[in-house]
Parts: sequence; C-alpha cells; structure tokens
Amino acid sequence: MSKTTKHSKSATRLVHAGRDPRRFDGFVNTPIYRGSTVLFPTFASLLADDQPYSYGRNGTPTVDALQAALAELEGGHASFLTPSGLSAITTALQSFVSSGDHILVSDSVYRPTRRFCDTVLKRFGIVTTYYDPLIGSGIADLMTERTRLVFTESPGSQTFEVQDIPAIAQAAHAAGAVVVMDNTWATPLFFKPFDHGVDVSVHAATKYIVGHADAMLGVVTTNEATAAAVAKTHDALGLCPGPEDVYLGLRGLRTLGVRLRQHQASALTLADWLAERPEVAQVIHPARPGDRGHDIWKRDFTGSSGLFAIVLKPVSREALAAMLDDLELFGMGYSWGGYESLILPIDPRGYRTATTWQTEGPALRLHAGLEDVDDLKADLEAGFERMALLG
Ligand SMILES: *Cc1c(COP(=O)(O)O)cnc(C)c1O
Repeated sequence: MSKTTKHSKSATRLVHAGRDPRRFDGFVNTPIYRGSTVLFPTFASLLADDQPYSYGRNGTPTVDALQAALAELEGGHASFLTPSGLSAITTALQSFVSSGDHILVSDSVYRPTRRFCDTVLKRFGIVTTYYDPLIGSGIADLMTERTRLVFTESPGSQTFEVQDIPAIAQAAHAAGAVVVMDNTWATPLFFKPFDHGVDVSVHAATKYIVGHADAMLGVVTTNEATAAAVAKTHDALGLCPGPEDVYLGLRGLRTLGVRLRQHQASALTLADWLAERPEVAQVIHPARPGDRGHDIWKRDFTGSSGLFAIVLKPVSREALAAMLDDLELFGMGYSWGGYESLILPIDPRGYRTATTWQTEGPALRLHAGLEDVDDLKADLEAGFERMALLG
C-alpha cells in the first residue's frame, strides 16, 4: 500500500506510511470502515474467498492502514492490532507456548503481564520464571529444555531498568527460544527491536501512538519467522479493535515525532531540575548520564520519552498527600503518553520476586506532558512547598 519504502527517515515515514489517498478519492486520511458483513459478488468468489476483505473481524482498510504503517516504522514484517496493550501482550505470549512449556519473564514487566502469566498461563500448565532485568547474557543459565519464550520490557515498567536486549536475544536464540519485547516506552521511533534481536515487539498504542488519552489500542509486530504463529493466534482469539480507536491510532501516529520531541525535552528538563531538589533522593531516567541504564540506553536507543521516576527522601504520608492533592497541572491517574502531565505514586516492593526494590522514601512516576515546562516546574515546586509545611 505504501509508496514510501524508499524514504528511510522516520519523520517522513510517520507522515506517509500506510496512506493511499488515490484509493479514497484523494482524501488524505484512510476512512473509518465500520462493518461486519462484506458481500461477495458470486458463489464462485465466496468459495474461492478471493477478496481482500471477507468479514469485519478479519480486517478492514482502516485496520490495514495502521498495521502497515506500524510494521514499516518499526522495521517488522507484519503487525496485528488488538483492543489494548495488554491484549497485544497476551496474544504474543499465547502464540508460542503450549502446556508443559517454560517461559522467562523480566521481573520489571508491566504488572498485568505478570498477572496473566501467574493466572491464565499457569492454569494452562505453562511455568513462568521471573529473572533480574539486568541479567544480560547470564540468562543462558536459566534456559531449560522447555523454555520457549523470553519476555523483555525495556526500560522496565515503573523502575526503568534498561535491558541488554542483544545479549538476551543471543542466549535465547541459542536455546531455541523466541524473544518478545514490550517496546511501549521508546515507541517505534526510539528503539528498533528487530535490529537488536527481538522476534516479536508489542506496544500499548494506548500510550504515545494514540497520544491523546482517548482510546485503548495494542499492536503486535513480528519478524518474518514469527508472523504465521502470531497471525494464527490473533485470528483464533477473535481480537479486533473498534474502528474509531484504530482511526485515532492512525491520527495520533502522524504527529508522534513532534510530540515525542517535546515529551523528551520536557522530561529531561524536569529530571535535571528534580535531581537538584533537596526533597529528591534519586532520579531514575536512563537518558541521564550516571543512571544505571545509561550506557546501554546510549548504545541501543535513539531517544527517550516523557516517562521517568523519582525517589523522594522519606516524608510522612500526610506531607506527600499535601504535595499530590493540590497539583494543578500534574494529574494523578493510570496510563501515560497523552498530551497531559501525570504523576503517580509507585511501590514495586509488593510484587517483585527475582529482585528487590528498596528505597527509604516513596517513589513517584512522572509523565512530562506538552505543557510549558516552566509551568510544570512551578507546579511541582509549589507541591514541594506544601510538603515542607507538613514535614
Ligand atoms: C499501559 C501499558 C501496557 C498495557 O496497555 P493497555 O492499553 O493499558 O492495555 C503494557 N505495557 C506497558 C509498558 C504499559 O505501560
């Protein structure tokens, strides 16, 4: 569909990938196709199933446009849309495992990924071992004869460990396992999973791709070798996102580059400013020199997004509440990747099993939105002042 393969620059691909205006009477955007039934002109056509579209669940031109754009941007072979980021993860996992198999999952994964492994996969007889996200090539020691899949997420949810994906992939492939990566944080722009040995990439498109906090959407992208397995599972599970949400994904994608540039710049400005604040014990942001993930981030990534964490010096719950409750710009709530700034208290202590998370003070995850960064600083500064009043 796309005529842009000769253009290798991401900014150009973002604008042109997956678009074919001539096919839609010149209209720039692929229309929202709604529908279940697709008519066949003849009995012979029905028997041959010779149309590009056969049933709404199996794809529409709107779905194809976003799938083609995402596969092209990430450098994969094929993309499959799902109704949420979590369903993209569960589809990828189910595509490669059978009863009796073993999988390795990073201890820093998005918590609902863990829940799926510990409930559904466990019930179906698949054993999960959680591993230290910083294990690198040491993961070879955890491979068993039944290890089919290694799940990675880099940087890790909430705690931002940067994984040595090439080293992990090499060990996994040597043992015959498939490598799946949750690449949501970097987006298809800042980390190219297929250049680093990943076989299957997943995104919560809900975050930066949709980019406006107005839809839920997921995507699984595969290399050539894994495409058939994911296609089969995706089809069998009956996953199809709503047409409006797919359209919002397409619409968000076109501005992903400029949005991310601002998210990146504001997050780094805030992180540097926070690092100098007396209230802050630690800033966790892999794009900052000195961060424990910085060297690998610098080697493998081409940018950073707007999400990072800080650890505060010990404060009372009341003082923390005084800071958080009256912030004017930073909202408190789940998800991220929209235009707005967010702040969320996090506590990974309760669910890690392979590693421990130990800090003296409370941790906060921040999403730098598209507001003026000086206004964001002032909002946090006023929060710190409220906090100080209560000690
Ligand atoms: C939000 C998130 C998901 C899940 O996406 P949903 O669209 O909310 O289901 C998966 N992975 C990461 C890293 C996320 O932040």
